[in-house]
Amino acid sequence: MRHSAFASARVVVGLCGLGRRARLLGFASGGAGVSPVSRPVRAVPGPRRVQSLMQDRYDAVVVGSGLAGLTAANRLGRSGLRVLLAEQHSQLGGLATYFRRRHHLFDVALHGFPVGMQKSLRKYWGQAFADRVVQVRRIVFDNPQFHVETTFDTADFTRLLVEHFRVPREQVDAFFACVKAMNYYDDQRETTRELFERFFPGRLDVWRLLMEPITYANGSTLDEPAISYGIVFGNFMSKGVYTFLGGTDTMLDMMAAELRAGGVDCETGCRVEKVLVEQGRVAGVVANGRRIACRAVVSNGNLLSTIHELVGYEHFNADFLATVRQVRLSNSSCQVYIGIRPGERLPEIGDLLFTSTHPVFDSDALCAPKVSSRTYSVYYPAIRPGSDQYTVVASMNARHQDWDGFDRAQYRAAKDRLIEDTLDALDRYVPGVRRIVDYTEAATPRTFARYTLHPGGASFGTKFEGLRPSMTLSGQVGGLFHTGSVGIIMSGWLGTVNYGVMVANEAEKYLAH
Ligand SMILES: Cc1cc2nc3c(=O)[nH]c(=O)nc-3n(C[C@H](O)[C@H](O)[C@H](O)COP(=O)(O)OP(=O)(O)OC[C@H]3O[C@@H](n4cnc5c(N)ncnc54)[C@H](O)[C@@H]3O)c2cc1C
Repeated sequence: MRHSAFASARVVVGLCGLGRRARLLGFASGGAGVSPVSRPVRAVPGPRRVQSLMQDRYDAVVVGSGLAGLTAANRLGRSGLRVLLAEQHSQLGGLATYFRRRHHLFDVALHGFPVGMQKSLRKYWGQAFADRVVQVRRIVFDNPQFHVETTFDTADFTRLLVEHFRVPREQVDAFFACVKAMNYYDDQRETTRELFERFFPGRLDVWRLLMEPITYANGSTLDEPAISYGIVFGNFMSKGVYTFLGGTDTMLDMMAAELRAGGVDCETGCRVEKVLVEQGRVAGVVANGRRIACRAVVSNGNLLSTIHELVGYEHFNADFLATVRQVRLSNSSCQVYIGIRPGERLPEIGDLLFTSTHPVFDSDALCAPKVSSRTYSVYYPAIRPGSDQYTVVASMNARHQDWDGFDRAQYRAAKDRLIEDTLDALDRYVPGVRRIVDYTEAATPRTFARYTLHPGGASFGTKFEGLRPSMTLSGQVGGLFHTGSVGIIMSGWLGTVNYGVMVANEAEKYLAH
């Protein structure tokens, strides 16, 4: 059995009563046929609880161990600061997580990231991380408007657009030039819909090709600022889609070891309940009921929860709060995890399949409870060298309100329906798939909310308008910083790693004074 990320980290299992098994389980906590929600990973006080090694005082406390929190903690620790990384869940990683059931290991959010991740991992985590970044080559689209296969980069998209969609070459080149030149500081008034209308008027099939993967990747819609689409799309278009060889478990093991080497105290099962503010500055946190002094807090929790719950309205001025009131949460997700029986093989159906039966691209339909669009990530044994396991993870965008009214039995039934419908839909690509499946489980917005504390199980934090308040928190409360999924560009694995570094640099500057 491999070690969990946490097993190799320094410290400090605040809630060791969970035991090794729970730590290995990670994201979803039920066994076969048991809802992750109905069996939460929970603090188990009592004789097996070990003494926490958490100190009384740190320079900085990082609240949450998503990729932004992990990276910020690593940067701060490597700068010689005394850092506590406090994670409420029993495992590091936030949404970038995995869980094990029987012989299956499921990645939750490792479907693909842009090549820029290789550089960021090298710079902020080390060469060994960058060496594991490998390309995902077979990306398939199948919907009523087209069936195409692509490597998802500018050259191949240009080929598709010109040869398959019959768009004039000059138009395609002009579109890519425009997207490439986009910058966060640009005019933000043009929407993605207007951008598409400008370059591909009336071509709803082209819109779908360009937009659908990005909506899956960060929940964005046609009516958000075009730059938020263009920057993310442009990142992927530079060289295609990549993944981490060895899977999320390997990456988190490596990150935990780096944090330990950098002297960061990682405390899991440790919920920060309050950020303490005195005379307009951070004075500490309350974590699992205990007061910890510190001069800076980097919150990797949801932006809105950070402001409303961890800190409290009274510490922000009226103008700032007016901006915060405009901030919308991002949508959530559902996933179905499918384990293939040992000894059975999946045919080569592609690494990433964007499938839909909906007539045209429609971001509302993508979130609807009656699922018509799914992305399948297919994990062949090559992703985990030495393994002979095949798994499939189907992901769908979803809304918390469509799931939160169910009682226990209704919830279980809705999850079963989600699984059955997904198997039916997968049968189209793998005929007779049920015969080779030996494990299924589903996650819903309720699962995501439980494991990350994001209100509504928001998969990508908050929408674009959250970026300004996120970046200006320290102007309100000295030493208070936020990092993590916000504003589309700062989302996904690449965005959050980079945002973690930016914010760690700011926190370090603050602490130097
Ligand atoms: C289904 C799905 C698939 C995805 N697929 C991809 C993909 O293929 N490629 C990609 O690039 N991105 C993907 N993403 C997005 C990506 O995983 C996230 O954007 C990124 O991992 C979020 O990192 P984060 O730093 O914002 O923190 P999060 O992952 O949101 O983690 C925040 C952490 O803070 C902790 N926390 C919150 N409050 C507290 C508190 N008070 N005390 C202690 N701890 C606290 C939470 O428990 C959590 O661990 C996917 C997301 C989802 C949901």
